[in-house]
Amino acid sequence: MKVDSPNLQRFEPVLRKVVTILLYVWQLPQNLAGLLLVAVLRPEQSYDYEGSRIYYASRMRGGISLGRYIVIRDVMKDYTGAVEQHELGHAKQSRILGWFYLFVIGIPSLLWAAWWNESRNRDYYSFYTERWADHLGGVNRC
Ligand SMILES: [Zn+2]
Repeated sequence: MKVDSPNLQRFEPVLRKVVTILLYVWQLPQNLAGLLLVAVLRPEQSYDYEGSRIYYASRMRGGISLGRYIVIRDVMKDYTGAVEQHELGHAKQSRILGWFYLFVIGIPSLLWAAWWNESRNRDYYSFYTERWADHLGGVNRC
């Protein structure tokens, strides 16, 4: 069999675009929520990384991952990259779960974050949404 590589190379950008569009639609509810959050917070900084757009906003509390969009409080910008890697783990959950993400991860995670505080005597990252995000993002907290 002969593989026509020039044709394959021409086809690759098209295929990439199709995959990007399909992934965007697959995560549409959280993508729209993310766009809304970015419009409201108007983050001061951003860059593209591993298929996500990471924003730093002074008006953000904590960090959140909504589809393609990750918004992190500017002062939490982490030189070790652990905050970013954790949120990229949530972004992977979003790619896996698609339209189910907000129900399986988003809402439980927000409720957990609202309930949790230092005095609860439980590790914040012990909750399934957080432990899984750490695992997918390759964060080691030991
Ligand atoms: Zn998290």
